[in-house]
Amino acid sequence: MKKIQMVDLISQYEKIKPQVQSSINNILDNAQFINGPDVHSFKEELGEYLGAKHVIPCANGTDALQIAMMALGLKPGDEVITPSYTYIATTEVMGLLRLKPVFVDCEKDTFNISPKAIEAAITARTKAIVPVHLYGQSCDMEAIMKIAKKYDLKVIEDNAQAIGSDYTFSDGTVKKTGTIGDVGCTSFFPSKNLGCFGDGGAMCTDDDEIAEKLTMVANHGQSKRYYHDVVGCNSRLDTIQAAVLRIKLKELDNYIDARRKAADYYDAQFSNIKGLTIPKRVKNSKHVFHQYTLQLDDGIDRDALVAFLGEKDIPAMIYYPVPAHKQKMFASLETSSGSLVNTDWLTTRVFSLPMHTELELEQLEYICSAVKEFLEG
Ligand SMILES: *Cc1c(COP(=O)(O)O)cnc(C)c1O
Repeated sequence: MKKIQMVDLISQYEKIKPQVQSSINNILDNAQFINGPDVHSFKEELGEYLGAKHVIPCANGTDALQIAMMALGLKPGDEVITPSYTYIATTEVMGLLRLKPVFVDCEKDTFNISPKAIEAAITARTKAIVPVHLYGQSCDMEAIMKIAKKYDLKVIEDNAQAIGSDYTFSDGTVKKTGTIGDVGCTSFFPSKNLGCFGDGGAMCTDDDEIAEKLTMVANHGQSKRYYHDVVGCNSRLDTIQAAVLRIKLKELDNYIDARRKAADYYDAQFSNIKGLTIPKRVKNSKHVFHQYTLQLDDGIDRDALVAFLGEKDIPAMIYYPVPAHKQKMFASLETSSGSLVNTDWLTTRVFSLPMHTELELEQLEYICSAVKEFLEG
């Protein structure tokens, strides 16, 4: 049996190696490392895939979030409602821009931000909501967009873990995650569902004016060459990364199918195991399983389970052990609105099993029997 990896990028690369090498060689021969033709083609192709009018690539997913917040005109002191249960990048950029993150609780079964908690946290200073489609499944975007409209708030979707997922509104309209709010932000970090071979990210929007601002902020606040209207930053997707992403974008739906198949296997094995809760799949979103994350009942020793799996060469990870509202970086903030019961509980109870596009049946069997052995003896 092949060694089990949390994410197996090498086996995935083997399958696209000739195309990747010829694309990269072509770029090396032309030396168009920045803003080469692949960057423009990728913008078009990703826009088409997502059904978004504008795609603005940038250097990474963290930058995408920061640029979106700058371009939408958020100012120091503005309150931004966001989940505490997320990767730190989502909320760190708020700190950097001197915005005030207002952390709200998530739903226990979906891990995603609770619309009820959002509405309860709104004040006169609230300017935006940043929902995160955690682990690959959409937040309740219909409820979130309704709240945003009612209180005139901007919505920036953190789609770093859910590219390719979608959301179905009650009227039957289907949209890809990241294309529902004012701006959608994503990351092409290698281990993400659409990953490049370094750092990369992108923003998308249907609004021409916002697209122009995003483009300007990502490029030194420049409106035309050497004329800088606002303070921006330097955040680009380089041509080699764009070329890799063009190849992998064509495979993205196959990659998603492979992840969902692995998740189906896990679900079938774990759905009746005492002490274990499998990830909930909501009816109106396609789960693209960036992570396969289980919950352990109180009283089961999570560290011992992870160590037990480790001894069997099965990697398992805890995403995330410390929620944002308990991070030292935010210690000086008066942050959370109310207590974050689900967030605090989940951070002590979740664990994630290997999830990637190359998992083989015998690996899945081995992983599942080890988990069952620990829980059932
Ligand atoms: C990965 C990730 C980011 C940041 O992306 P980078 O490309 O690593 O900067 C932001 N938010 C979430 C939820 C992520 O998973």
